[in-house]
Amino acid sequence: MEILSLYPTLKETIWGGRTLIDEYGFVTDGDNAAEAWLLSCHKDGPSFVIDGKYKGKTLSEVIEAEGKEVLGTNNKDSREFPVLIKIIDARDKLSVQVHPDDEYAWANENENGKTEAWYVLGCEEGASLIYGVNHNMEREEFAAAIENGTLLDDVNVVKVKPGDVVFIPSGMLHAIGEGILLAEVQQSSNSTYRVFDYMRRDKNGNLRELHVKKAVDVVTLEASDVNFSPEGESEKDGDAVKTYLTGCEYFGMTLVETDGIYKDIAGEKSFVSLLVLDGEGELSAEGQTIALRKGSSIFIPAGKGEFTVNGKLSILKTEA
Ligand code: ZN
Repeated sequence: MEILSLYPTLKETIWGGRTLIDEYGFVTDGDNAAEAWLLSCHKDGPSFVIDGKYKGKTLSEVIEAEGKEVLGTNNKDSREFPVLIKIIDARDKLSVQVHPDDEYAWANENENGKTEAWYVLGCEEGASLIYGVNHNMEREEFAAAIENGTLLDDVNVVKVKPGDVVFIPSGMLHAIGEGILLAEVQQSSNSTYRVFDYMRRDKNGNLRELHVKKAVDVVTLEASDVNFSPEGESEKDGDAVKTYLTGCEYFGMTLVETDGIYKDIAGEKSFVSLLVLDGEGELSAEGQTIALRKGSSIFIPAGKGEFTVNGKLSILKTEA
């Protein structure tokens, strides 16, 4: 199967900025682009093939046509495409929220749970995010804090900088703060339980719904340790420097910074996603050549073998 270059679905929200439009060059009718769903088989926002045999098709349609083997042996039993990769541009802050685990989500939402991880691409001076609770809490206490609107007293508010890595297991309370641009890798799921929304109103003047009962069911209420460093050391590999950022049973994320030639392999276990965070260059494998630029999202099927990237680029590589 061909390597795919993908175009995202863009999402407009009350908190979105314009970086994805103005700097990444994505096109939308909306006033802002809060999220670009760059590697997605989720029904709420597919990614589309830009060129080649499958031009205009969704990633899901291609996988359906080619067979699940292109996802790799790690994913042969997964009920859905294993990951969803986005760039998120938060001009304003996001609601405080929590996601269910697989068991709860399959029982209540008929989809995967959601563990996610963020790689901070850029932020305004002093930008911060919310990560877990700052003291051990009981469920009734948590529910009362939502009810009384005092929840922000109970959460860790943590300053961030570009390069920070934030791993968010299901159950972890979290929120992206204002002025943050980040890449997100998550399980393919759209199950979000909102617990605090700063009393904001949408275009139609309505408060957004809170999902208190479900949030109380799934939230982790032990005080969280905060460490936003990459898990791995940087290692030189030819003209590239690779840094393992974070991972879990669902995905692994590696930052690849290259100036010259970077060779890698898409093995039998997993497909490889390359998301170009910055720079320009090209990717080649088996006679196929694809131009790479900021925002390019590349799907390399499992078992494709060796591929070569040439250029000066910063790339987020994800396997599942
Ligand atoms: Zn989230």
